[in-house]
Amino acid sequence: MKVLKFGGSSVANAEQIKKVLQIFNSEAERKIMIVSAPGKRFPNDIKTTDLLLRLYEKVNMNLDYTHKKAQIIERYRDIVRDLDMKEDLLKAFEDTLDYYIEHLKDKPSRLLDALLSCGEDFNAQLLAQYNTLQGYPTQYISPKEAGIVVTDLPQNAQVLEESYEKILSLRNYSDKLIIPGFFGVSRQNYRVTFPRGGSDITGAIIARGVRADLYENFTDVSGIFRANPTVVKKPQVIKEITYREMRELSYAGFGVFHDEALQPLYKDRIPVVIKNTNRPQDRGTFILHNREIDTKTVVSGISCDHCFTVINIKKYLMNRQVGFVKKVLGILEDYNISFEHMPSGIDSISIILRSHQIKDVEEDVLNDIRRKCSVDDLNIEHDLAILMVVGEGMHRIVGTANKITSALAKANINLRMMNQGASEISIMFGIDVKDANKAVQVTYNNYFN
Ligand code: ASP
Repeated sequence: MKVLKFGGSSVANAEQIKKVLQIFNSEAERKIMIVSAPGKRFPNDIKTTDLLLRLYEKVNMNLDYTHKKAQIIERYRDIVRDLDMKEDLLKAFEDTLDYYIEHLKDKPSRLLDALLSCGEDFNAQLLAQYNTLQGYPTQYISPKEAGIVVTDLPQNAQVLEESYEKILSLRNYSDKLIIPGFFGVSRQNYRVTFPRGGSDITGAIIARGVRADLYENFTDVSGIFRANPTVVKKPQVIKEITYREMRELSYAGFGVFHDEALQPLYKDRIPVVIKNTNRPQDRGTFILHNREIDTKTVVSGISCDHCFTVINIKKYLMNRQVGFVKKVLGILEDYNISFEHMPSGIDSISIILRSHQIKDVEEDVLNDIRRKCSVDDLNIEHDLAILMVVGEGMHRIVGTANKITSALAKANINLRMMNQGASEISIMFGIDVKDANKAVQVTYNNYFN
């Protein structure tokens, strides 16, 4: 059995939806499909999810929201009309929006999740109805019926293990099934959304739950590139990549596949393939438990993520002080801040954070560290980018770091920090944001060309 997931651009209009259903109907094993909300039809278009967000903002500010609501219904009206379907569904969609606005307007974060969920929910209903009309019996299954039970954290849901037992019974349906992505239902019976881009997560949960042989994740590119194609000219497409490599690349900015979607898959080693809705004949990129490694494929990909901040702490004889780091991390915990990396020297330690985490409380955090940890020197640097070179082969093959650092040195790029985890899947370099694109270009060229 295969589980398929189609992203927003794949279901943005009637023409794309026809392509999607042709793919879905082309094989009997393609039994379950997860859909996103209609995405952008052209570069400056607005995603339906963003329209829903704007609707929420208007409602929440007690402003007139009729225009916003109409804009959303129009997106679906265009699709319904171009597919020659009856408009009854639109009335039901509008009633649903009204219902949530009426019943949840005093619970803003609940209202937001309920409205956001409508983008995928309406689309799944629409596609299931259309496919059935075309002669392929297809059922819409809501996340609640499917059994996706999640934590009760608005916009940040996580699936609960108990979900999987019920999801398995989706195998018993003889019809094809279409499930909306991006949300589940909490034990408190609220719709709760995953983080943005979270339809990938739904696909992964369902693929694991039904013990799929393959999770086909369709998007608008023919696989995962070794580097960002807007930075590097015509980068190679990766043929195979491991879950661990993918996790590291997604973490550092590869947006093709949601990093949280890997967790359910890698437990049961469900293989994933990233494919192109517009070119389904292309092989795509497989994400697997293991891959073949030869000298040409030591490194899988190179990415660079911006917006990091570093706190540098110096304290003479730090290595002899028991509990020093615990104190520092305790302060971050007080402010509910998680850190990303923590390279250390004998008498110094640097804490790398995503800048948005500390932005509003920077002064307070620094003062607390000064006060509670009696440090010798403390400073903070902004505008750090992290260049990440990822490859399972690095722990066996000598010379990768050398190839990268020499390329960076030739391009006169200053390395502010280097870090290689014990797993040796990736090497991370801290550089100035202004050097980020150049760093990716020179390392890519030195490595792959
Ligand atoms: N529609 C949601 C978003 O735009 C989820 C998704 O497309 O995966 O973030």
